[in-house]
Amino acid sequence: MVASYTQLLGRRYGAQLDADAHEFIGYAVDGVRRMQALINDLLAYSRVGTRGGDFVRAEMGTVLARVLDVLGPAIEEQQAEITHDPLPTVRGDVGQFHQLLQNLIANAIKFRRPDVPPRVHLSAERTGEEWTFVVRDNGIGIDPEYADRIFVIFQRLHARSEYPGTGIGLAICKKIVERHGGRIWVESAAGQGSTFFFTIPDAE
Ligand code: ADP
Repeated sequence: MVASYTQLLGRRYGAQLDADAHEFIGYAVDGVRRMQALINDLLAYSRVGTRGGDFVRAEMGTVLARVLDVLGPAIEEQQAEITHDPLPTVRGDVGQFHQLLQNLIANAIKFRRPDVPPRVHLSAERTGEEWTFVVRDNGIGIDPEYADRIFVIFQRLHARSEYPGTGIGLAICKKIVERHGGRIWVESAAGQGSTFFFTIPDAE
């Protein structure tokens, strides 16, 4: 309502307002949109623990196919190419696995290098009692010094004007992985692309 009525002011009284007023309306609408995004992301973060679904058999290949469907427009717009090896069936909360893969792949596309189309590859490897999933991109990379910090809520390495976002996505990923008894981390060098890893304990 705040955004709609502010925009309505601009439209209905547009002729009586000067350029500054229109600029201020733009800032107000932008601020409200950001507040909405922040509230939605915070809700998603708080619900990982309280509104989690049952643990069931989760075919990660099927989960990925749905995620790629949802991200279709962004993938097309960025001319991104997402490839994957065969992915295993694990046990867990399918809705949360969807959110996890979606956040990681959306980031891999968003933090792209301007001159190279995003390439993202997913794979999984069985390591002892667990599966390690790997999401590798060819984007801007992350200075190893900040590799732990990015999983903390609201921690971002870039200005919002450079790359939009609330800084909650990876904190949600960490909470989801830890609810399943796994770990998440990143390996990267600045400018070299990033590789995110997460483990999910074996179903048995
Ligand atoms: P947001 O995407 O809203 O900024 P996230 O919690 O998803 O928040 O990510 C936190 C920060 O980690 C990002 O702001 C960015 O600096 C860094 N980051 C995340 N994913 C990637 C990636 N694939 N490549 C480079 N940097 C990344």
